Amino acid sequence: MKDILFLKGKFQEKIWGGSRLKDEFAYPIPNEKIGEYWAISDMDKMSSTIINGDYKGLSLREVYRKDKELFGNPTGKSFPLLVKIIDASDDLSIQVHPDDKMASKLEGSRGKTECWYILNDKPSSIIYGLKVDDKKEAVDLIDQKRWDDLLRDVPTKKGDFFFVRAGTVHAIKKGSLILEIQQASDITYRLYDYDRKGKDGKLRDLHIEKSKEAIKILDNKEEIRTLTDGDLNLRILTDNEYFKVLEKKLTGTYNFTKENPYSLFACIDGEGQIGLGQNSYKIGKGDFFILTNLCKNYTIEGSLTLVEAIGKNS
Ligand code: ZN
Repeated sequence: MKDILFLKGKFQEKIWGGSRLKDEFAYPIPNEKIGEYWAISDMDKMSSTIINGDYKGLSLREVYRKDKELFGNPTGKSFPLLVKIIDASDDLSIQVHPDDKMASKLEGSRGKTECWYILNDKPSSIIYGLKVDDKKEAVDLIDQKRWDDLLRDVPTKKGDFFFVRAGTVHAIKKGSLILEIQQASDITYRLYDYDRKGKDGKLRDLHIEKSKEAIKILDNKEEIRTLTDGDLNLRILTDNEYFKVLEKKLTGTYNFTKENPYSLFACIDGEGQIGLGQNSYKIGKGDFFILTNLCKNYTIEGSLTLVEAIGKNS
């Protein structure tokens, strides 16, 4: 069975982490300071593991290199996307990611364009872009450490979606629980960290010069398109050069035709089942899976919300 790959990811402890990955998703977290669940990843040392079918026990990293056909024979060496859940019980640093050009030049990596689907029930907020629309003005405010004049604080509630193009200054704030879909890259420049000290009593490292270089003045606004067809409510959250992200909310049954080589899915609410040919699989909140190139049609039934990500490049 290679048409659907269910995955188990890895956890990352963070000073700002918490316990909601256990409380709300029933994941077996190793302690109460877990900030990230790397659910669909082929990143070095953080690759997720396939937990069903012919490839059970192998890492996504191995499968992606071994059986390219499952992914439509991409030319790239590594899996282009990374899907995480982030639990912030404290504010994260204010940061920015380089674009492909800068990341390749300075870090030998992809850039990092990402997007956030908000999962927290209680309203929270994020830092999302700048109050000024001129780069020189932004750099002056950074030099003067006038953070309140620089940073845009935006309220968030469950179901909100934010596209965070590389170059956008951003921060996840306390109380946020977020499904993050991003280019597979781990390059972050920290611009400001509220003058907090790490475990060792020292201020955490900042990357101010690189941040200033990476910052772009961007309008991240994208129009979200919605569509209802029978039992399905669909929202197209973003469709950019790196990924397309859809929210599929379903109460009942729907038959889907899959046109792209492969899709990544997160079940973020409810439960039901997915049928592929003769086989059907239970899916529920917290499950992550990939529908590979072998799957052309599938049926979903139940009462559930899925977020689907489709990678665009290799
Ligand atoms: Zn980020």
